[in-house]
Amino acid sequence: MEAGIVGLPNVGKSTLFNALTAAGIASENYPFCTIEPNVGAVAVPDPRLDTIQGFIPTQKVIPAILQLVDIAGIVRGASEGEGLGNKFLSHIRNVDAIVHVVRCFEDGDITHVDGSVDPIRDIETIDTELMLADLQSVDQMADKAKRTARTGDKDAKRRVALLEQCKALLDDGQPVRGLQLDDPADRKEFAMLQLLTAKRVLYVANVEEDDLEGQGPLVQKVRERAAAEGGEVVAVCARLESELIELDEEDRAEMLESVGLEEPALAVLARGIYQLLGLQSYFTAGEKEVRAWTVPIGATAPQGAGVIHTDFERGFIRAEVFSLADLMELKSEKAIREAGKLRVEGKEYVLKDGDICHFLFNV
Ligand code: GDP
Repeated sequence: MEAGIVGLPNVGKSTLFNALTAAGIASENYPFCTIEPNVGAVAVPDPRLDTIQGFIPTQKVIPAILQLVDIAGIVRGASEGEGLGNKFLSHIRNVDAIVHVVRCFEDGDITHVDGSVDPIRDIETIDTELMLADLQSVDQMADKAKRTARTGDKDAKRRVALLEQCKALLDDGQPVRGLQLDDPADRKEFAMLQLLTAKRVLYVANVEEDDLEGQGPLVQKVRERAAAEGGEVVAVCARLESELIELDEEDRAEMLESVGLEEPALAVLARGIYQLLGLQSYFTAGEKEVRAWTVPIGATAPQGAGVIHTDFERGFIRAEVFSLADLMELKSEKAIREAGKLRVEGKEYVLKDGDICHFLFNV
């Protein structure tokens, strides 16, 4: 899972990115992660992992991870090549979700590119650039698709029709994520277009330390805006987060408590992204490690197994599944088995959040 951080200059993107990715992760556990200067991987905090390890002692606990990409350089005119322009917009194509950082803190010492703090105007500036970039891609793709459609290619015809619908929305100043598609074939084709404004957005309102609850008038405006478009908002103070990471664990807990926070921003942000993308976790707990895996809500057991390895999905035979509640009550997998609570589930089984699974498969 990968999220791209966007926002105007000087809103606190780098401060937040650095704070979230500073702890680093043991890269040997995540060989598929690309590590580049603007890409950071962060472990998704999940207290259930420690609970499981309390009953099934293992050497390692491996959380799910979230890859963050800091997409700097979007300014007014980016779609026309202003600032770092199109090169950076292209980084957004591959992410699953957009984290849009919006400045909600007043600070006379920190210049705003447009001279004043106005989160809604800022959101519109970024949205406009993303929509203009999409319009360009839509036009380019439509030319190509039309040529192919003339040869009678059915997929190309579908594509042309979809691109027309996208263009109509964009011309009207609306992101394409608003497009209602009932036909699964349309939805698949639409995903392949990789349009920027098709991605779901989590707004991070970067607030002052005295508004950590995010009740101030600027954050409220962001909330109203997000509600109207089905987005989510979390309020975070990036500067405070960057101070927190400098501290050792004990001091950090003390500082969090002193400002009235229960957990660092990463946990809040990770939950926001899970919710936005309709994700959940299941666990594996073997001799070596207890590990969290991320799957879409509604994923079947073979699809879940496929997150570990594509071969596991192809060769899936069955899953043995138990719940965290059963583990807490019966205290060991052996006792769960003896109590007849270890369920054997087949290909149709839909995974539940927090399931603990063993997969049996042919390779
Ligand atoms: P970017 O251009 O969006 O990456 O912004 P930066 O992360 O570089 O931040 C721009 C400036 O704003 C820096 O001087 C930060 O220290 C400051 N800043 C970031 N977050 C906060 C915040 O929550 N409150 C205040 N007062 N300043 C912040």
